[in-house]
Amino acid sequence: MMNKNGMVTKIHTRIRTDPFTSNYELLGRELGRGKFAVVKKCIEKATGKEHAAKFLRKRRKGEDCRMDILNEIAVLESAKANPYVVALHEVYETNSEIILILECAAGGEIFNQCVAENDEAFTEKDVIRLARQILTGVACLHSNNVVHLDLKPQNILLTSAIPLGDIRIVDFGLSRSMDSVTEVREILGTPEYVGESCLLSDTVPSSSLRSIGVLTYVMLTGESPFLGDNKQETFLNISQVNVDYSQDAFEGVSSLAIDFIKTLLLKNPRKRATAAECLNHPWLTGPASLYTQLHASSLPSLDEPETSQSESEPESPAPS
Ligand code: ADP
Ligand code: MG
Repeated sequence: MMNKNGMVTKIHTRIRTDPFTSNYELLGRELGRGKFAVVKKCIEKATGKEHAAKFLRKRRKGEDCRMDILNEIAVLESAKANPYVVALHEVYETNSEIILILECAAGGEIFNQCVAENDEAFTEKDVIRLARQILTGVACLHSNNVVHLDLKPQNILLTSAIPLGDIRIVDFGLSRSMDSVTEVREILGTPEYVGESCLLSDTVPSSSLRSIGVLTYVMLTGESPFLGDNKQETFLNISQVNVDYSQDAFEGVSSLAIDFIKTLLLKNPRKRATAAECLNHPWLTGPASLYTQLHASSLPSLDEPETSQSESEPESPAPS
């Protein structure tokens, strides 16, 4: 069942009303929080297994948001076979909250490593592996007719940080069924990541790929490509696709990586690559071992001589 906002609200998981605390022990540590949810680590008493409990308030700003939560649950259910989407274990409901018991992604947000100092930051080789996983996860969502609409470093988690594990996509609060929204015109998500869609009425799958371009940029440089000093500047950067591809920003990063990002951040969504094409990009298919020691100068360049400007758009998307 799909309502007119593209929300799917028919769910199969049984919503338990017995107290969550009779089956789980909450560990004090908070794993994270967002606008309307707080996530805490807990242990299932019967199995001793660690999970993450996401507490979602049903009333937000005086509005009943139960349907939004059911949509989030339905999307998680539909992504059960997707190896890169966090697994949903159980659901509990109280008077004020719905509690999602999720697989615990113990490595935390990729955000932390994006902004970390050098020795903890991702290497290019790491980013290649993680970008492949994110693309595979998103391609799988798309093939299931789902768009996430809020892909950002706070919603991409890791199964473990040291050693670096695999990615888990979380937070399907804004997700919608793809055929219900052909264009993202509403202001959903976070402007820096999905913002262009607000301004240019991007097509939906293509806006996800754009977000992956932004994510890859952030993982490699530690900086957000469109973030300005204020909202206005950020929107301007987005609408003009004003991206810094300078040596300075990409110190030690290969030109193949930059080419990959450029393919995803093209202004014209129709020219942007699809998830499948992106997975075939030479940056992702080449031997990742090449990029262990980041030395741009020693790597082959894909740049045509005249296309070093940020405004330039390669004529064709990723080679396939
Ligand atoms: P919101 O919809 O409020 O943004 P999220 O689902 O993004 O809620 O969760 C908020 C934060 O909690 C995430 O950014 C992350 O840091 C943490 N978190 C969410 N789910 C998990 C999980 N399964 N394992 C570990 N941490 C999680
Ligand atoms: Mg979130």
